[in-house]
Amino acid sequence: MREDLSEEILCRRNFENSILKAKGDISLDHSKEYSMKLRTTALTAALIAALVGSTAAAAKDGVYKSTTVGRNGDVTVQVTIKNDKIADIQIADWSETHPIADLPSTQIPADIIKYQTTNVDIVSGATLTSFAIRNAVRDCVKQAGLDVKAFSKKAPAKPMINETVEDDADVVVIGGGGAGMSAALAAAEKGKKVIVIEKTHFIGGDTCVAGGGLNAADRALESKHEMTAGQVKIIEDTLAVAPKNELHKKLLDAVKKQWADFRAKNEKGLFDSPEFHALQTWGAGDYVANLDVVYEMCKLAPQTVEHLASIGLNWEDHTTQYLGALWPRSHKASNYKAGIGFIETYQNWIEKQNLPVTYLMQTKAESLIVKDGAVTGVVAKSSDGRTHKVMAKNGVVLATGGFSANVEMRMKYDTIWGGKLDEKVKTTNVPGITGDGIVMAEKAGANLIDMGLIQLLPSTDPATGATTHKLGNSTCMFVNKDGKRFVNELERRDVLSKAALAQPDHIFFVITCDETNWVDDEGRNSYGIKVADLLRQKKVFRGDTIEELAENAGINAENLKKSIEYWQTFCKDPKNDPFGRASCERGTELPKGPWWAAKMAPAVHHTMGGVQINTKTQVLDKNGNVIPGLYAAGEVTGGVHGTNRVGANAIPDCLSFGRVAGQEAAGFTR
Ligand code: ADP
Repeated sequence: MREDLSEEILCRRNFENSILKAKGDISLDHSKEYSMKLRTTALTAALIAALVGSTAAAAKDGVYKSTTVGRNGDVTVQVTIKNDKIADIQIADWSETHPIADLPSTQIPADIIKYQTTNVDIVSGATLTSFAIRNAVRDCVKQAGLDVKAFSKKAPAKPMINETVEDDADVVVIGGGGAGMSAALAAAEKGKKVIVIEKTHFIGGDTCVAGGGLNAADRALESKHEMTAGQVKIIEDTLAVAPKNELHKKLLDAVKKQWADFRAKNEKGLFDSPEFHALQTWGAGDYVANLDVVYEMCKLAPQTVEHLASIGLNWEDHTTQYLGALWPRSHKASNYKAGIGFIETYQNWIEKQNLPVTYLMQTKAESLIVKDGAVTGVVAKSSDGRTHKVMAKNGVVLATGGFSANVEMRMKYDTIWGGKLDEKVKTTNVPGITGDGIVMAEKAGANLIDMGLIQLLPSTDPATGATTHKLGNSTCMFVNKDGKRFVNELERRDVLSKAALAQPDHIFFVITCDETNWVDDEGRNSYGIKVADLLRQKKVFRGDTIEELAENAGINAENLKKSIEYWQTFCKDPKNDPFGRASCERGTELPKGPWWAAKMAPAVHHTMGGVQINTKTQVLDKNGNVIPGLYAAGEVTGGVHGTNRVGANAIPDCLSFGRVAGQEAAGFTR
């Protein structure tokens, strides 16, 4: 069993290396380890062929199966060979990310069957998934005894179309992530014809791979929590800050009164209000953000929770505290995994209501059309070569996200991490998040603010930078390789990342247990990835006993045992934590084994800088004047978070301001 596992890991490493080196086609025979694995699958295939009434040796016709490694785990493909041709391809099993892997799962099989070659175009942005399908099919071809070379000729290039198309809409939305979809729905509900321009092959952007927490003050759900002495201290510390401007004073006074009333009435559970949310958010970003915008976001957040519930998203019946969220006001969907729920809820509602939203997919917006100082449209380029001139009768909404996946921009702007955010530093973001909207808006005269402020998320996969291997709430106990805690897990994300970077190899582990893991009946985590795959890839580790976990994960066993024992005592009566942790939220306790550890290191996650907006999402120029016709929402904007973005505040930011932008753009007339 053990040998099998290491064979697969070697297999994946060779596979990834060859992608990096060749960026072209991959030979299945390039490594001993790989062919060893494929021999095993060939035996399985022969067995399947026998079961379906044919044998691989006697006849080539049959059904063959092969398993290769994709982005998240094993990709098992089933291929029907008939009359020396690839007749059918089915994805039998995988944990690739929806919706990113949706197009490769249909386009690559269709192209392979059409052109009878495995050497078809990959889907850019889904490279590992694409290669996994191609390689598995190629292995099946080999198993069937067909000439692999003959099935490896280059498929004909798709013709490029050299023409300019003119499109008209009332509202044009650039970017189909959380902010863009929220804006599209809002404008369409106002009866406007909307075109969404999306550069990738999927709708969802980075929002669909976000953890899915939405911070909103919600006394109904938060009353289910018990407030600890540490949390009372957080409130009092927040209220003890000297006012920094008029609005700050107004908010401080309001919260002081709310807190006094709360105590006088002996209210149950956890104190909260949009004003307190705003004070915490502004403070956690070192008072750098625009407080007007921060307060607007915190006021809108509860409405966004209600709006989503009214269009099909079900919320869990309790709130939790996402990593870096600072207060247990994070809402999480119960009928969806991760951030995809927000996107699908909008898409389903648009479809159900038959709203006039159309999508220009695989089309990259390149510039804004400006006439007499107002933005009137967008020039975009499709992957088929077409240029689109999309005119907006009303407004244009920029919703292109941040620039975490653009190393050049990271290096150019970063003022926090000492110029170290080069290509060696991974990102949690999908590849399309390259700051295009910021560049376009600047060319159209927009003012950029806070561009140097870049967030690292501490809890990401050291090998890829993705967050998709997490097992439970990332605010569970952190230990380093020495088995020791090293930080208050409920701290700000910048504090956590700096603490993680101070550990050997920047590595730490989030310790969870069977009872607290967010794993469903199929054994999939909150991103839909099979935990068995994560175990095989050594992204997570398991042990029936603490000693076994320590041995598997390479953590000092004696210290890990002491840390878990401490944690169990602390969670029963959360006080006097040496690192200052104020509470032990539901789902972060460690009652009993089996035990789990997810291996973590920091990666670039969120860029707080971008286009300056006001509370109506109107984009401002360098003189503070509104640029008519241009609205922006989500991570493309600056001034919403300051030096450090509070965990689970990105979703209320992009969804709430997306809705405002859609409504405002719909109402704009020239
Ligand atoms: P937010 O959270 O702010 O909504 P997301 O990352 O979820 O941001 O979504 C941003 C979307 O914008 C992504 O789907 C991304 O592919 C898309 N995008 C980025 N640049 C462009 C561009 N130049 N043209 C069209 N779409 C773009």
